[in-house]
Amino acid sequence: MKAITKQKGLAEIERLLEKESSVFLVGCGTCATMCHTGGKDEVLEMARRLVDLGKTITGSVVIPTVCDAQDREAVSENVKAIDEADCILVMACAYGVQTLALYTDKPVYPALDTLFMGQEMSPGVFSEVCVQCGECVLGWTGGICPITACPKGLLNGPCGGAKNGKCEVSSARDCAWEVIYERLSQQGKLDNLRKRRSLRNFSASTQPGVYLLDGKDGDLK
Ligand code: SF4
Ligand code: SF4
Repeated sequence: MKAITKQKGLAEIERLLEKESSVFLVGCGTCATMCHTGGKDEVLEMARRLVDLGKTITGSVVIPTVCDAQDREAVSENVKAIDEADCILVMACAYGVQTLALYTDKPVYPALDTLFMGQEMSPGVFSEVCVQCGECVLGWTGGICPITACPKGLLNGPCGGAKNGKCEVSSARDCAWEVIYERLSQQGKLDNLRKRRSLRNFSASTQPGVYLLDGKDGDLK
């Protein structure tokens, strides 16, 4: 799985940093490098752009994976340049931004928008396969998620708008429910579609998600 990101426009970044005159830049060597949104080249390019906007760049680092505890070490190795900066601009996914913020008191700003967690379906093609809804229905739907594969997130069958197997929202994609039907048919499990299932329990939604490794559920809502 990879965090799929896009860079924010320079105008938005300029607004975010309007009160900051010096900046430390952080890039990510994993997902953001793959997306060409926050690797070494993009960090250097961002530094050039910020200098053009009159900012001072006190330093930069590309952390191998910003969304884990490597940030602690990276922050301590760059403590002088970070101390000299008014803020940190993070060119990583939102997980990385929030992880880095655990290890510094400096204001931390995101340079990227996080779009989704993607699974590589073919080389260079990523698809959102799960939004962590908290009540998985894959066991009924032949392993195909109707929430991510159907633009309407329909849980109980097709909307009726598909044409020639293609989705009415986008003819570039197959109708999720036709794919589910075909898969269940191949598996001899079409009965799944006839079974009455209980209404979706939206309170099972895990946003904001908290899970404690000792097995207790966390609830910070
Ligand atoms: S049903 Fe929910 S948990 Fe299961 S794959 Fe879809 S979004 Fe993820
Ligand atoms: S055509 Fe199929 S995939 Fe598209 S919105 Fe309707 S049910 Fe969902």
